[in-house]
Amino acid sequence: MKVQTKLGFFSFGIRQKIGLVLITILLLSLGISGWHSLHQQELLVIEETKLRGSDLARFTSRSVAYAVIGYDYHSIQLLLDELVNSQDINYAKVINSKGNVMARAGRLSTESDIWTYFEQEIILDDNIIGSLSLQFDNSRIIKKLSQQRKTLIQKEILLILVIAFCEYIALSIFIIRPIVSTSRSIKESINGASLLTKKIAYRAKDELGYLFSHFNTLQHHLHSATKQLESKIKVVNQEVQEQNILLKNQSNELQKTNQKLKLLSISDPLTDLFNRRHFDILLKKEIAFSQRHENSVSLILLDIDHFKKINDQYGHSVGDAVLCAVAKNIQENTRKSDICCRVGGEEFAIICKDTDEETIHLIAENLRTKLENYTIRNNINEITVTASFGMMTYSYIPEQPLSPDDVYHYADMAMYHSKDSGRNCTTYYTDIDAPKASVKKP
Ligand code: GH3
Ligand code: MG
Ligand code: MG
Repeated sequence: MKVQTKLGFFSFGIRQKIGLVLITILLLSLGISGWHSLHQQELLVIEETKLRGSDLARFTSRSVAYAVIGYDYHSIQLLLDELVNSQDINYAKVINSKGNVMARAGRLSTESDIWTYFEQEIILDDNIIGSLSLQFDNSRIIKKLSQQRKTLIQKEILLILVIAFCEYIALSIFIIRPIVSTSRSIKESINGASLLTKKIAYRAKDELGYLFSHFNTLQHHLHSATKQLESKIKVVNQEVQEQNILLKNQSNELQKTNQKLKLLSISDPLTDLFNRRHFDILLKKEIAFSQRHENSVSLILLDIDHFKKINDQYGHSVGDAVLCAVAKNIQENTRKSDICCRVGGEEFAIICKDTDEETIHLIAENLRTKLENYTIRNNINEITVTASFGMMTYSYIPEQPLSPDDVYHYADMAMYHSKDSGRNCTTYYTDIDAPKASVKKP
């Protein structure tokens, strides 16, 4: 955007307006100096009057000299009357050498500002034969001069008033009105974001015009900068949103991976049952829970009978498949609340929450018969397995508290008792001869 910086030839700029004010001041000072010079002139005129009066007094004294010496009172009186009748002399008097008044005309005034008084000796042949007194009237001249001064001041005041009025109108039209209307239009066109929605429409080629023109340019730059910023913010916002979605996806993935890792850390990779480490934790937890709520928790340990033979006969991978099948069978034949774990090579454990001795007998026997009647098939073989079971129920007895290790150990003892009793059977730990006396912690 191009900004004009030169005033047009006929434009009425602030400089011209200031010029007008200066002219007014000049006129005012001219008026004051004019008034002063008039006053000076007045003083000069008075001085001139004095000179003229003294000349007239000298001339008149010479004219009346022979009349005085000849005691011609009549001629002297005529002359004095003539003088007084003239415009500028107010009073005239002639005195002889003896001090007697020979003639007098007019009336003596005492106002020294308006009147000028002259006394002139009447000399004839170098002898003083009397004196002439004249009083001059200055009022006419002073009146004329003051009239002139008044007229000058009136004209000055009128001229200054006219110029001041014109200047006021000019200032209102060319400066005040544009500023007021422009500021109003600025106020109306400010939007919610405190930005001007329109350009300032001030077209005059004066300093204000240039100022607003520069302002419009700045405003234009500001608008485009704001737009650029807004679009950049939009792009950045979009990028942030995309990054957020990406982060969310990654976080979900991470959560899933964590869950998988957690599951891996607590489960047996072959059978998907809980591993030994997690079994230990769960057993401890369930015993603590049962202790707190004063109910029972039971543990079943089972060991597949002669599993080595299966490995030897069918191979290790078939052995693995059998292990998986047994795990599946155990899960299918236990309650949802029961916790199934693989605690050794071909050894499994089941924690049965809130289960007493009577119930654990039933559960174990049911499991045993289900496994006995379960046929594991692959493409070639049909395999059946049996297992030996050991059970233990934990009930809280304050005098004889049992640890999780004790519970496991009693169940293990019972399981080995089953093995010793010919396998494929269940033993509750109290069924072992004097179990508590022979029990030793591992
Ligand atoms: P018993 O009736 O006295 O328990 O005899 P058993 O053969 O089952 O017991 P033993 O302790 O003699 O043998 C257990 C076998 O289980 C030995 C081992 O090779 C096998 N075994 C342990 N873990 C695995 C496994 O993960 N996969 C396979 N296929 N075999 C395993
Ligand atoms: Mg074993
Ligand atoms: Mg075994």
